[in-house]
Parts: sequence; structure tokens; C-alpha cells
Amino acid sequence: MTHHDPEFQFCPVCGNRLDSSKLKPNEPRRPVCPSCNFVLYLDPKVVACSILEMDSKIVLLRRGINPQKGKWVMPGGYVDRGEEVKAAAIRETEEECGVKTRINMLLGVYSYSGQVPVVIVYDARYVSGDLISGDETLEAKLFSEKQIPWANLAFRSTVDALKDYYEIKNKGGKSPTDGDKTPKD
Ligand SMILES: [Zn+2]
Repeated sequence: MTHHDPEFQFCPVCGNRLDSSKLKPNEPRRPVCPSCNFVLYLDPKVVACSILEMDSKIVLLRRGINPQKGKWVMPGGYVDRGEEVKAAAIRETEEECGVKTRINMLLGVYSYSGQVPVVIVYDARYVSGDLISGDETLEAKLFSEKQIPWANLAFRSTVDALKDYYEIKNKGGKSPTDGDKTPKD
């Protein structure tokens, strides 16, 4: 995902105009308040996603909102502060495509230099519900491996996670798809 942070101009504590300072030589410049010394740490944004198979096909959603409107992505979204990451993945999947899931295992963590999001992708299992498209989704559809729209995937993390998923699955190793494992929690 390519989200840019807004340019923060004012101190959220005292309302003074922020300066930009290098606090330590090996760190990036940070917004600092010259009045109350508040340091605004611009943290990563955590995104939780699920790769979900139904009828031996992967659920992909066509995005109805920017960024990357019209492109395909797996169900997922931002983790709320204080929310368990797995719970966020389950919540987002149900919100976006109407399906209740449980987490089988972690597939991978995807982050890129200069990019704000840290994308955590789980291998999820279908529990119940019919596939629908939620508010932010134009279309929810099932794809076999051969049908995956590689050129029209929304984000680099979408591409990388799906590649990893199929690599593991096709190797038949520690497979995300070898039967129905008991969840670890
Ligand atoms: Zn301040």
C-alpha cells in the first residue's frame, strides 16, 4: 500500500508549530515541538490480511476505494491500536466479504523500504457465510492459481504473499493447504 503520511504541522500536545530535528545521528529527522519538546514518532501502520480458500480457490476482492481502486487484493485492513492482529484479520475478512474465518497459520510479514505499512498475512480457514462484497469492495471473486490476475493485483505485498502461498502449497511442504489443521490458539 502506498499511503503517505500527511504533513503534520502542529504539536498535538500544545498546538505550537513543529520543527524538524535529528535527535540521534543514525535516525531520520523527526517532527519535534520547540515549545514543549514533544517528539512526534511516525510509526508504521500495521495491516492484517488473510489468504482464504473456498472451493479450492482464493478469495480476492476488487478495491472500491483508493489507493489502487479497481485492483485486486486479499481481504484485510488496518489493525486498530490494542487489537490482536489475528482478530483484525478475522474482522476485516468478515467486513469485506461476509465470511467468518479462523486463522490457520502465519504466512508472512511484508514490508518495504520507504513504505509505511507492515503487512501481516495469515493463511485462514473458512468457517461460515456466503461470499459478498462489502462497502469498500466492487466485487468479491474466487480465483484458481491459473486465474490469479497477477498484472492487476493492488500492492506489492499482494503479489509477494500470493507467490509465497503457492510456492509453499505446490512444494507440499509445510503447506498452508494440507488439510484442516487445528488452530494453534
Ligand atoms: Zn508542543
